[in-house]
Amino acid sequence: MKLVSIVVPCYNEQEVLPMFYDEITKTADQMSQQYPELNFEFVFINDGSKDKTLEILRSLTDRDKRVRYISFSRNFGKESGMYAGLQNARGDYIVVMDADLQHPPSFLPQMYSYVRDGEYDCATTRRVSRAGESKIRSWFARKFYKIMNKISQTEIVDGAQDFRFMTRQMVDAILDMSEYNRFSKGIFSWVGFSTKYIEYENVERPAGTSSWSFWGLFKYSLEGIMAFSTAPLAISSLLGIVSCIIAFILMIITVIKTIAFGEAVAGYPTTICVIFLLSGLQLFCTGILGQYLSKTYLETKRRPIYIAKETEETYRKQKKEISVTDKPAEDSVPSGTNE
Ligand code: UDP
Ligand code: MG
Repeated sequence: MKLVSIVVPCYNEQEVLPMFYDEITKTADQMSQQYPELNFEFVFINDGSKDKTLEILRSLTDRDKRVRYISFSRNFGKESGMYAGLQNARGDYIVVMDADLQHPPSFLPQMYSYVRDGEYDCATTRRVSRAGESKIRSWFARKFYKIMNKISQTEIVDGAQDFRFMTRQMVDAILDMSEYNRFSKGIFSWVGFSTKYIEYENVERPAGTSSWSFWGLFKYSLEGIMAFSTAPLAISSLLGIVSCIIAFILMIITVIKTIAFGEAVAGYPTTICVIFLLSGLQLFCTGILGQYLSKTYLETKRRPIYIAKETEETYRKQKKEISVTDKPAEDSVPSGTNE
């Protein structure tokens, strides 16, 4: 028998979660019929949701033994959610997917067919269209992939998603990368292994809203660049060298000019311009340096990637305890003797 763990990070997903559960269980049942060797578990991560997501997860746990969940003490972000899910998944195969049905469960049988006979270690989807996304957002996304692939050795495929069917071996490799600043698209690619890309058209969310703002995505993309490339550092040194060369040439010109023509105070505006330009460049480069330093600083603190407040295990245990302490009152057995 083989166990498939389905890892689903959820943040404020009360609207789609019941729909998602219906869909995924349907697919799982279908797959168990088609491939009798497969068993399933669902590992939901409640990433500090402020709505009823946790309540829904609890009730799913009551209904279905295959459901497991980890509830965070606050919102740690999707990256932390995925890490927690991968860490806690017990499966021989592990799937990561969104709760919002933008990653259609109907792809799972096809994905499994690629991974099953060991031809691939990972099957994933690749969006070929960005339908339903604003034009500016798609433009920035495309530019990001272009820049990223130019300046980083790790290849990041445009349109690749965090919808993956992976083997245990690959997941263990991912878990070995316990860095604090996580950029999964880079991590998935960095660990290597053979990956099958399945192309598909973008699907829109049936309910709820995306929790990514434009600014949030922008910051995330910068994080990605810094996590997988040191090119900005090299660029800043290059800028420094170039401006030094320019300054040197200017100095020579000035000296020659003064000797030849005896110039006095003219050229004041240009001086101001140069000062502004150079100090701007300096601040820019120091800023880049500072960004990397701050990442290193956070990394050296070795903070946990997530903090779990509740899991399906603690929830079940608590429920059992409550029913145990309830019972003695009925049977008039003193409490504590049952344990
Ligand atoms: N998500 C999360 N924590 C967050 C933000 C998002 O766990 O802080 C989850 C969310 O519940 C969903 C997935 O990550 O399952 C993708 O989020 P979303 O649909 O908002 O992103 P998009 O599809 O727009 O990239
Ligand atoms: Mg989505």
